[in-house]
Amino acid sequence: MRIALVAPPWLSVPPGGYGGIEWVVHLLADELVRRGHEVTLYATGDSTTSAELVSFISRAAPARMHDPAIDAEHVGQVYKDIAERASAGAGPDVVHDHSEWLGPAFAHTVPVPVVFTHHNSLTADRRRVYGSFFDDVAHVCLSEHQRASWAALAGAAVVPNAIDLSAYDATGAKSEFLLSLSRIHPDKGQHIAIEVARRTGRDIVLAGKIDPGDGEKYFEDEVAPLLRSKSVQYLGEVTDETKRDLLQRAAATLFPIRWDEPFGLVMTESMAAGTPCIAFARGAAPEVIEDEVTGFLVDDVDGMTKAVSRLGEISPAACRRKVETHFSPALMTKRYLAVYEAAVG
Ligand code: UDP
Repeated sequence: MRIALVAPPWLSVPPGGYGGIEWVVHLLADELVRRGHEVTLYATGDSTTSAELVSFISRAAPARMHDPAIDAEHVGQVYKDIAERASAGAGPDVVHDHSEWLGPAFAHTVPVPVVFTHHNSLTADRRRVYGSFFDDVAHVCLSEHQRASWAALAGAAVVPNAIDLSAYDATGAKSEFLLSLSRIHPDKGQHIAIEVARRTGRDIVLAGKIDPGDGEKYFEDEVAPLLRSKSVQYLGEVTDETKRDLLQRAAATLFPIRWDEPFGLVMTESMAAGTPCIAFARGAAPEVIEDEVTGFLVDDVDGMTKAVSRLGEISPAACRRKVETHFSPALMTKRYLAVYEAAVG
């Protein structure tokens, strides 16, 4: 099959540091190529892929994350290129769009089916925008919870994200420290993770890029004052290598989310490294973590604190197995191919 994959325009594929969607697109592109499909990846020029790379944005610009000018330039040019290739008889059979907002609005400009993956929480704004172009794309959700959050998506496919299992080792020795690895934002609740560490008397390592806007204010008001404690180590944004090392050595990853996480890659990364994840039971968390097997699903600070005392009950092998059987690139790719085939009809 000839497949055009559209990545978001702000980070490279794969990303050098923070970035979830870009990793998923990277793994999908490589696995599709490995299976013999003809893949064109639309992503920044500093991306690395085994697919044909086409770029209208030369370099990643993380400092301009979510800048609509970059988004408009990228997505507009991508759909123009696809339309031109199609009219020359060299278009794809299907477009798979992972962009932020604009994919559904441009879908009608190309004479091929467009599959659109919802990587974000379906806020009222998103429902309004996507609702205006609803029938122009085939919708894909990342979790059952995300699909249930908008009745219009009742017929949509659910394709959970995948991670690169080969990059993680689940057999190494664990330390005592707790880990919080997420974009710094009120939704991710870093101050709660620090409070849990304080109550359990453990050290905590906090890694994550500060999200522009709300994240900056949250960091300043609620996280920075807690960093004076010697038990809290803040590393800022970390590279992929550091992230894997931390995930492999941590006693547990804490995920006290305060929003309905549409997927939450960090939970799968933690489990792939044989490290239990303790999350608030909302959004996709109950679909990713198997309670009392690969971590714990809890409701509040007290629950999270108690779960830390039960970490010895979780086996690293069980954590790893869950990711191998549910969140592998092979499984994700197989599911997306079924969606493409249905869309092509
Ligand atoms: N991440 C990273 N460095 C950081 C913070 C996060 O590499 O400093 C990675 C994290 O490991 C994950 C991704 O960025 O792979 C974030 O994806 P996730 O679905 O967990 O959260 P999102 O930010 O998309 O809500």
